[in-house]
Amino acid sequence: MLTKEERSKFYKTRAWSQVRLKVLSRDNYECQQCKRDGLTYTNKHDTDKHKRLDVDHIKDLEHYPELGLEIDNLITLCVRHHNQKHNRFTKKIPKWTDERW
Ligand SMILES: [Zn+2]
Repeated sequence: MLTKEERSKFYKTRAWSQVRLKVLSRDNYECQQCKRDGLTYTNKHDTDKHKRLDVDHIKDLEHYPELGLEIDNLITLCVRHHNQKHNRFTKKIPKWTDERW
């Protein structure tokens, strides 16, 4: 598992910026989730689409650091879908509710 510091270091590496560009061009600089939803993302955001796109780890970097540079584990998402995905994962039911007597 990677700490926050290790992850921010990872995102500054040259290897990451190269893989990131590969993923963006593989996905034609389009959010893959918008595509799935049938939205024409590029028409809406075409002035600054590059700034609005993130490359996301399907299996998150925190728990799967060995897949950090694996192109098949990476997907282009717009900022909106990227945030949506991460909000979903942080909404976990706290463990302590199970510990009733
Ligand atoms: Zn999207």
